[in-house]
Amino acid sequence: MKDDDLLGYRCPTCKTINPKHVKYCVHCGHWLLDDTFKAEPIYRDTYLKQIRSYTTKKKRFSLKTFLLVAGILFASLVLIGSLTSHSLTTSPVTTIPFEEFKATAVDLPYDELARNTEKYKGTRVHCVGDVVQVIENPPVLRINVAKPKPDKFILNPEIVWITRKDSAGRVLENDTVEIWGTVKGPRTYRAVLGQSITVPEIESYYLVVTRKVGDK
Ligand SMILES: [Zn+2]
Repeated sequence: MKDDDLLGYRCPTCKTINPKHVKYCVHCGHWLLDDTFKAEPIYRDTYLKQIRSYTTKKKRFSLKTFLLVAGILFASLVLIGSLTSHSLTTSPVTTIPFEEFKATAVDLPYDELARNTEKYKGTRVHCVGDVVQVIENPPVLRINVAKPKPDKFILNPEIVWITRKDSAGRVLENDTVEIWGTVKGPRTYRAVLGQSITVPEIESYYLVVTRKVGDK
């Protein structure tokens, strides 16, 4: 491929796509010329293809999801009836059946959740993201919930700290996961260059690997 088609480099640490002239990741400061953890060159063709496949996948997914969610909602309403309250915050989480948890979890825009994390403490939420980092003990994931935006070249990662309370099996870096859990609060961690980053923390009660690393 021609050098003209080179758009930039994807940071191996936080997955941000950086402009080609920068030497350090604009988000996390990772040295992009590092030989051990190499930054991946991103070419215009590949990048556009990725965005297109994301968009088509998303469309197919949406109708299916809509039907599934509608079905589940209907079924749980019939089953649960008027005895159970659907509060977002009450009752011990682990005893709530998956279908009910799913039906009462909300999708919060990342910006809203990140700015007002305290306000959403205890709220049942649903999110989908790519696994950026796996820590086995205690079981923690850092996931990037940012979605490709065709109009925006640099994707700022939208990181969520997941403390795993779910009983799903092992998750690997670069897997895509779908999570249902509750907001725990803001969580601060140290990034590569030692700077502190504060992100929302979610305790996951249900987790599904929707795309395994290596799958197309
Ligand atoms: Zn980075």
